[in-house]
Amino acid sequence: EAISVSNLAKLIGERLAPFEQKLRVLGIEYTTHDHLLNAEEASLIAMEYDLSPVVNSEAAIDLYSKPIPNDMSKYPLRPPIVTIMGHVDHGKTTLLDSLRKSTVAAGEAGGITQHIGAFSVTLPSKKTITFLDTPGHAAFSAMRARGAHVTDIVVLVVAADDGIMPQTIEAIKHAKDAGVPMVVAINKIDRHDANASKVRESLLAHGVELEEYNGDTQSVEISALKSQGLDVLEESIITLAELSEYRAEVDIEAEGNIIESQVERGKGNVATILVKRGTLKQGDNIVAGTSWCKVRLMTNDKGESLKEALPGTPVKVMGWKNLPKAGDEVLQAKDEELAKIVVNNRLLKEERERQIKDLEVINEKRRQRKKEIEEKHASARNFKKEVWMFHKGLLKEYPTMESPFENKEQESSEEEKIKQLSVIVKADVSGSVEAVVNSLDSMGNDEVCVNVIDFGVGDINESDVIKASASKSLIYGFNVKANSKVMGIAQSEHVDIITHNIIYKLLDDVKLRLSQMLPPII
Ligand code: GDP
Repeated sequence: EAISVSNLAKLIGERLAPFEQKLRVLGIEYTTHDHLLNAEEASLIAMEYDLSPVVNSEAAIDLYSKPIPNDMSKYPLRPPIVTIMGHVDHGKTTLLDSLRKSTVAAGEAGGITQHIGAFSVTLPSKKTITFLDTPGHAAFSAMRARGAHVTDIVVLVVAADDGIMPQTIEAIKHAKDAGVPMVVAINKIDRHDANASKVRESLLAHGVELEEYNGDTQSVEISALKSQGLDVLEESIITLAELSEYRAEVDIEAEGNIIESQVERGKGNVATILVKRGTLKQGDNIVAGTSWCKVRLMTNDKGESLKEALPGTPVKVMGWKNLPKAGDEVLQAKDEELAKIVVNNRLLKEERERQIKDLEVINEKRRQRKKEIEEKHASARNFKKEVWMFHKGLLKEYPTMESPFENKEQESSEEEKIKQLSVIVKADVSGSVEAVVNSLDSMGNDEVCVNVIDFGVGDINESDVIKASASKSLIYGFNVKANSKVMGIAQSEHVDIITHNIIYKLLDDVKLRLSQMLPPII
């Protein structure tokens, strides 16, 4: 667990300059604001300020979704959120366009609908449906893969002239896997070759139990192109939604998901949030993934600016520090400070996970290469042995011959042991770890070589020294440091720590040590 100098200063409530001064007095060498202090150092500092430290505080700080109340019945209904799926060319885009237009035609407001990734349709009954604007299964799967359960209802579009196609079957599977109920829209009913009953029959064959066959899935005949049957489709969605009673608290901190995000000219990072619970208000601080934002301006799908957004409402929000990803969970932080800490912790966590992965990759590549190098060395040793055997044969025949291997019989005939320089490598980033380790692996010959017993990213720490001591290794640091405490331990453990900022100097040092290990040449 670690905390940055500046964050600890904030927690303690001290200004940075005197804080850094205090750190130096305590013997902490690195006091730049982003330097990470370990739990021990942080505790020491806290005690210096007469605070009793509870370790593992900040690094663990994150935001979490609130538990869902057991009894939802007292909370208001929210609009259902609908995704349109189906085979390519069956009319998904056309249907979305017609639905969107129907709201404009109904004279809702504004007139111009904006593509923000989702839009709401208000029916004459004043009930509202929110449609996700990106048709297709990729978006749905991507969201689900990121743990985002955004969709309540799937509208499965099947063209009446084409019937069930591979992506229709895929959509059925997606909806079933996600446990999301479906409404079937049999589209292109205006076409002369439309055959709705055939579609219904084959849906049954694919496990979709339609009402017509005593099942509970509704089907509606529509023409997306001619805007026919859309009202019936909308009513079917409402019927299904009312059955499921989608309710949400409105008086808690906002929670939702990112629907889409992009950089817009003159606006910077913008993202559409679909509010799922609570109310998102102007001025709120929200976090999504490793980005955060203070909500200054939010607009709806009609381009109108909103002061607050209730559950089921898609809103476009500007001012993100960086681009959040579609599917990211949006959670509210009580203030800017907390938002920043959470983002920082998540970035650190991501970085740690990335490092672990990088190091695994390096290890895998090494295993492969080490095998090759060992084979090379073994064959060099074999060759020497053969040469020796050949000479031995010659010596037997010509005992008077002068041998270049004189006095070396014992040595050469012995099973030769390769001498190894054991090292631990630490470097600033995984790329430099890889570069150093690769160079070290390929150094040496069949008599001496480098044995990298461990490597990692980051400053040299206590556990590196302990490992080095146990394995009689040197520690090489590239672009990293060892603080005075670590240096002290190294000294008492008789572990050499060699740090360089130039790679060839580091390698030269290794070469020198290797050459000193070679048997003297006579
Ligand atoms: P998507 O790939 O599922 O998004 O399908 P599109 O919405 O792009 O539609 C594919 C084609 O079918 C386009 O040429 C549409 O004009 C046409 N189309 C969509 N809906 C209807 C409909 O209800 N009737 C007819 N006749 N054509 C339609």
